[in-house]
Amino acid sequence: MFDDLRGKTAVVTGSSKGLGAAIARRFGAEGMNVVANYRTDEEGARETVRAVEEAGGAAAAVQADVSKPECVDALYDAAMFSFGGIDIWVNNAGIEVGTPSDQKSIEEWKKVIDVNLTGLFAGSQRAIQHFLERDMPGVIVNLSSVHEIIPWPHFADYAASKAGVGMLTKTLALEYADRGIRVNAVAPGAMNTPINAKKFADPAALESTVKLVPMGRIGDPEDVSAAVAWLASEQAKYVTGVTLYVDGGMTLYPGFQHGDG
Ligand code: NAD
Repeated sequence: MFDDLRGKTAVVTGSSKGLGAAIARRFGAEGMNVVANYRTDEEGARETVRAVEEAGGAAAAVQADVSKPECVDALYDAAMFSFGGIDIWVNNAGIEVGTPSDQKSIEEWKKVIDVNLTGLFAGSQRAIQHFLERDMPGVIVNLSSVHEIIPWPHFADYAASKAGVGMLTKTLALEYADRGIRVNAVAPGAMNTPINAKKFADPAALESTVKLVPMGRIGDPEDVSAAVAWLASEQAKYVTGVTLYVDGGMTLYPGFQHGDG
């Protein structure tokens, strides 16, 4: 637990399920106020609000499609209305669609980029404006992926968006470092969340993924939420512009693990 987080307010985009819900719950346990954003799953967001409150925090569910900048403004306004301020903005919302690149429509490409990269920029920009207008320190945490650096056939848009998240994180971190604004990313490997539910329900697909993880298991959402909480806290006050991989070693070239290569 990080004492300095108590009473602070965080926006967590896409927190009706999966990693976003776990991050919201962790913030609740830290005694924080959480704006639990959802796009369509209102019941999931309500469940997140209940979980945050049970964990000891306060929360409000707010509908917004982060791929639309005007919705990000509305999300910001709702956060201000609910809690009167913002200290931390977590850009978690993300989508992936697997299609061979020669068959991928430009619409599909744009949709993934709009949510994963443009939505993340719009949220970061709104948070930075808030911090600058008040001359206050602030924290942004972006959800990247191991595909920030590992190429992923059929998911070219996703991999490109996450590589973009890495560079956007570094650039914003540099741009606002002297204003007390820290910008970092957390890059999960293969985690147990709804985005992977169908794949991991197939034992062969699960086994082939686990083979890519030197630690030999799929990660828990709480592995990610712990890293996000640390980066949000004062314990990480000298850390900016990094991507923290939470991946059981997936980015360590697992093919070489037993002296091969
Ligand atoms: P998920 O599909 O379980 O949840 C994604 C959340 O984002 C959902 O709540 C969804 O409603 C929301 N969302 C999608 N589009 C949105 C939009 N336009 N506006 C607002 N919300 C929207 O996924 P997850 O596994 O929890 O992933 C969360 C983040 O972590 C994503 O950015 C994903 O790319 C990243 N990530 C996940 C894994 C993994 O293994 N689960 C690995 C690497 C990176």
